[in-house]
Amino acid sequence: MTDLKNQHDIIIIGAGIIGLSAGLALQRAGRTVTIVDRTGVAAEASAGNAGAFAFSDIEPLATPGTFRNAPKWLLDPLGPLSIPPAYWLKIAPWMWRFLRASRHDRYTASLKAQADLMQLSEAALERQIKFLNAESLVRREGQLQLYEGEKQFKASLEGWELRQQHNIEFKLLKSPQAIADIQPGLSPRFTHAAFTPNWLNCSDPSIWANHIAKEFVKRGGIIDIRQVESLVQKSGKICLMTSAGELQAKQVVVAAGAWSHHLAQTLGDKIPLETERGYNTTLPAGAFDLKTHLTFGAHGFVITKIGDGIRVGGAVELGGLKLAPNYQRAEILLNKAASFLPALKTQGGKQWMGFRPSMPDSLPVISRSPKAHNVIYAFGHGHLGLTQAAGTAELVTTLINETKPKISLKPFLATRF
Ligand SMILES: Cc1cc2nc3c(=O)[nH]c(=O)nc-3n(C[C@H](O)[C@H](O)[C@H](O)COP(=O)(O)OP(=O)(O)OC[C@H]3O[C@@H](n4cnc5c(N)ncnc54)[C@H](O)[C@@H]3O)c2cc1C
Repeated sequence: MTDLKNQHDIIIIGAGIIGLSAGLALQRAGRTVTIVDRTGVAAEASAGNAGAFAFSDIEPLATPGTFRNAPKWLLDPLGPLSIPPAYWLKIAPWMWRFLRASRHDRYTASLKAQADLMQLSEAALERQIKFLNAESLVRREGQLQLYEGEKQFKASLEGWELRQQHNIEFKLLKSPQAIADIQPGLSPRFTHAAFTPNWLNCSDPSIWANHIAKEFVKRGGIIDIRQVESLVQKSGKICLMTSAGELQAKQVVVAAGAWSHHLAQTLGDKIPLETERGYNTTLPAGAFDLKTHLTFGAHGFVITKIGDGIRVGGAVELGGLKLAPNYQRAEILLNKAASFLPALKTQGGKQWMGFRPSMPDSLPVISRSPKAHNVIYAFGHGHLGLTQAAGTAELVTTLINETKPKISLKPFLATRF
């Protein structure tokens, strides 16, 4: 028998950026919300990411181009993409789906869905910034995508044409001097670039998530620290079996990042979620005078401002949730950053590894559970969870309240595989 105090209107599992944003949006829609997390606010990927609201990144990762580069990257065990040998067999079904997602028709459909979600999320973020009175927590300094030589630049142009079709503003730069006018101090090996002026960053993703959490609690929300082991349907309600007893809710949102599929499985839903592990090093104040967010796409990493410091991070390691981190990856990125920005001071850095929750087609799951009408899934945002959190939160609210969403949710269904 469940104690009355353990009965809830809505429980969200996960106090990462997705769960927190959904919690606040649901409260604003008049609902009573408890967020349950095993550790606390932004304890995982949402704390250490690069802080970018990357609305121009509409291209799914699974493209024919990815497969052209993959063998070269995979041959280098410390390159931008790696699969530890112990994980080859385990990742094979996900890779197969990733390969299928890169087929031209599927890629085009995913791109359209991603662009719709980005457009919604961009508008939703602006609403969120205003509501939270949080303009001081964002930086509107744009982004430079850097290319080495004419060949690499030309290969990127198709992607920029696609962005143009989706009304994304950008400027192509064709000389080191044009690049230096925006970001002095880059190695001259970068001959071309594209600048996206409307790109924005939060000043620090951990501070950003905690700011949302503070507002959520101020408005009566509860953040309850415990591990959820499984979900069970019982007389129209959902029971959560947790490390500290049973909870019941009328509706549940699963926003548990890279661990979400384990909870979905307890209801009988099989969802091909994997993790793309990423690494970074955060350097102290004074490490470099960075004017804008820098992206080195061919090397799979970025350099960005976090607080008064600099964060150098990226890489994709398909190694699952249990393998120990290999911080040599963070070192490799830092060494590359030092050769790209010769004046970068690399001392005093703090290393970090995080678990991106990733679906094979680069689209999140924003969907009702096929097995339980009162469970909503909101996970799998891969490289873009911070970017898409405010938009996802609005969509979760429409699913909970059974109102009409602003974009089609078909591409985000849990059943699409
Ligand atoms: C190196 C790196 C750089 C990145 N840069 C960017 C960027 O610049 N822009 C961007 O948009 N995205 C970026 N991302 C991706 C982004 O960080 C993620 O997509 C996002 O943080 C996912 O948020 P989430 O809330 O789904 O998951 P998480 O932040 O992982 O939160 C999930 C929460 O669920 C909790 N949880 C899990 N299982 C249970 C359970 N059984 N019971 C209770 N609690 C549970 C965990 O403790 C955790 O707090 C980056 C990621 C990495 C690794």
